Amino acid sequence: MYKIAVAGTGYVGLVAGVCFAEVGHNVTCVDIDENKVKLMEKGVSPIYESGLEELMQKNYKTGKLNYTTDYKAAYRDADAIFIGVGTPERPDGSANLSYIATVARQIAENIEKDCLVVVKSTVPVGTNDKVEQFIKDFLVNDVNVEVASNPEFLAQGTAVHDTLHAARIIIGTESKWAENMLMDIYKPFNLPIVSVNRRSAEMIKYASNDFLALKISYMNDIANLCELVGANIQDVAKGMSYDERIGSKFLNAGIGYGGSCFPKDTKALEYLARQNGYELRTIKAAIDVNKDQKTKLFKKASRRLITFNGLKVAVLGLTFKPGTDDLREAPSLENIPLLLENGAEIYAYDPVGRKNFEKRYPEGKCGNGSISYVDNIEDALKEANVCFIFTEWKDIKEIKPESYKSLMRTPLVYDGRNIYDIKSMRILGIEYYSIGR
Ligand code: NAD
Repeated sequence: MYKIAVAGTGYVGLVAGVCFAEVGHNVTCVDIDENKVKLMEKGVSPIYESGLEELMQKNYKTGKLNYTTDYKAAYRDADAIFIGVGTPERPDGSANLSYIATVARQIAENIEKDCLVVVKSTVPVGTNDKVEQFIKDFLVNDVNVEVASNPEFLAQGTAVHDTLHAARIIIGTESKWAENMLMDIYKPFNLPIVSVNRRSAEMIKYASNDFLALKISYMNDIANLCELVGANIQDVAKGMSYDERIGSKFLNAGIGYGGSCFPKDTKALEYLARQNGYELRTIKAAIDVNKDQKTKLFKKASRRLITFNGLKVAVLGLTFKPGTDDLREAPSLENIPLLLENGAEIYAYDPVGRKNFEKRYPEGKCGNGSISYVDNIEDALKEANVCFIFTEWKDIKEIKPESYKSLMRTPLVYDGRNIYDIKSMRILGIEYYSIGR
């Protein structure tokens, strides 16, 4: 078993650290955020992720898992250091590598024994060559260090399951030593491992994420055409799904992809292509379609209503998808400012995302309107003039159609997740708009 340090305790770093401890390694998770570390030491996860807290508590108790802000102590004698810090989008679409650079410098200045540095963060092709050179340039002690690429494919909401039962583990190395060590670290997971060179591993991550984003945008594009020609996107998707070459996943039309990965990873790959004198037209199209899709329902509603001014607007779902508290690039963040600008009085409900949303939009007057947060769906719908559904949380999916009719002042529903059967809504006298149907 190995002594592993993990830099960054976000969705990727914390889940990786916990799962490495779960299979028997000795893990120290490092973060610069003291509050996060204090929370984790108490057994509390700083992120909402199903099953994570149980494993944190279990492995902390046995001493296999520790948390610290003291990166010097954690990196000094680690066999392997996994980097899971953020690589957010810069205004020009490129990936911001400053967090990676900081960790690389901290590693270089503190390691006292030979060490494998493994980059889990999503980084543009060629970055890990630079990270390795950078660490070597700043090394203080006479030790060997190599960098490997090990991109992460977990989905938020099912991160622990996705890590322990991953479809594949991608490792990108430039030496037998690095390859063998990474294979060994992952051996207890008993999962298929694809071993390639470093640049191919980096590309596999972008190519996979961008393919999924492209699939979503493709279905949204077809959905928009369905609306114009009288087809139903759900029936179309069902018909397509039987074709094994297409597959049955990621065929749901909606109000666009969000989250911390697809939006930035599409832009970063498009940027990388441009830097290399190539125009990645397919990904560019995926980005364009997604941008329009996010405000599609708002535009529809704006055509239907004279004004939002003074209207009570129920918003159901704030996070970018169910199962997570993450708001990054969520459709709600595009639509709520538009609604507020237009004078709406918003009553927002989300079973998990409220706290994070409130930090950005505190309750009260905002723009030309106002925002209030409610703890249950009924309070959002009561006397509402219009309802927007942005996230298909389980309890939102379970709302009975009759509730819109009985609770709302005017049952006008814009559903970005195609939850309901159109006919049943119409029979009840609910004016119901969805995507591609
Ligand atoms: P995150 O923002 O949730 O977490 C990053 C963490 O790193 C934060 O807790 C931050 O405090 C910490 N940090 C910053 N600088 C540090 C330093 N010098 N030392 C130690 N900790 C430091 O990020 P995330 O969502 O986990 O994503 C991390 C990377 O993994 C990104 O490149 C992302 O694209 C990629 N990725 C994310 C997902 C996902 O679903 N979130 C999936 C696959 C890949």
